Amino acid sequence: MPHASHPGYAGADEFLAMQRLAQSNLVFSVTRRCPLHCDHCVTSSGPEVAGDTLTVADAARYAAELPALYDAGVRHLTFTGGEPVLALPGVAVLAAAAKRVGLATSIVTSGAWAVSPAATLKVLDRLAAIDHWDLGFDRYHQKELALSAFCALLRALQARRIAHSVRACVETPPSEEDLALLDELRAATGPDVPIYRQSVRRIGRAAEILRRVAPAAGPPALEPCLSSGPIVREDGSIGPCCSGLAYERRGCHPFEFGDARGNSLVSAREAWLRDPLLRLVRLVGFAYPLKWLAETGDPALQPALMPHKTCELCVQLWDREGRVGRYLSDRAARPEVVAQLDRLERELFS
Ligand code: SF4
Ligand code: SF4
Repeated sequence: MPHASHPGYAGADEFLAMQRLAQSNLVFSVTRRCPLHCDHCVTSSGPEVAGDTLTVADAARYAAELPALYDAGVRHLTFTGGEPVLALPGVAVLAAAAKRVGLATSIVTSGAWAVSPAATLKVLDRLAAIDHWDLGFDRYHQKELALSAFCALLRALQARRIAHSVRACVETPPSEEDLALLDELRAATGPDVPIYRQSVRRIGRAAEILRRVAPAAGPPALEPCLSSGPIVREDGSIGPCCSGLAYERRGCHPFEFGDARGNSLVSAREAWLRDPLLRLVRLVGFAYPLKWLAETGDPALQPALMPHKTCELCVQLWDREGRVGRYLSDRAARPEVVAQLDRLERELFS
């Protein structure tokens, strides 16, 4: 799966709907291991990646917090990775607990684990509580996983009438190869399953494949941040999104919200909701932060590059020493800015 936090939006209504949904979503990235090693992976996941995987003990701890999260306004959990099915026992515990509490759930997966009918049905049985399967397949996945194998998972989901959608990274505009694969996917899904297109972004491993491609000409990245909600990583740390800053630039950017293994998820989510700088970039994008940095006249605080995609800008904005993050966080926390954010948020997100 390409790990974008959103399938794209077509206009103001869709944009607002997505931002409002993010206010009530919580993402669990349960491992960075993955059987595949896609060239465009923004989390640089793969079979060789070391690190934690969500444990049943941690899942049970988080599950105990779900009623309080529901009371605080959470209505949806997303499971992603890496390949989240590699953390099957923990995801099964959390998904079942979410269903008991009344939270909807979705899982982002390539289906690389669906290697046989028996393996597929075993996973679908264990994760019967999952409401929606968010499947990723495109020409980058296809180098690692046969389309026929992906279609076998589609058929299994269809047979059980389990809700699902497909998202595919394509070039802008789509290449002949992209269009041919999209046609094949449409033939496999039938007409009613959403197929979302998204572009490859210069984040994670995808930055390598795009290194020699000149960025497209156009205006600087001024779209708002489209985080789909705070992310609880497999090691318990809590970040701002499951997109560019899910794993990149840790220790440099200002959007870290503690450790879920030792602290309350409700408090961490509240910190995500109240962070003035994150609220600013979610409401109006990076125009003001870039203006503030320019006004300092300090060359060390200026972005080295000015990408045209918001998450690409966000990933490369933060210096190693954290000066940019500290300056912008302080500036966004000024009372006159927060008062404007409060007004705008009431207008747009409620
Ligand atoms: S399937 Fe998803 S997580 Fe795994 S390598 Fe490919 S893009 Fe990354
Ligand atoms: S703009 Fe930054 S915080 Fe927002 S989704 Fe992109 S990478 Fe994450």
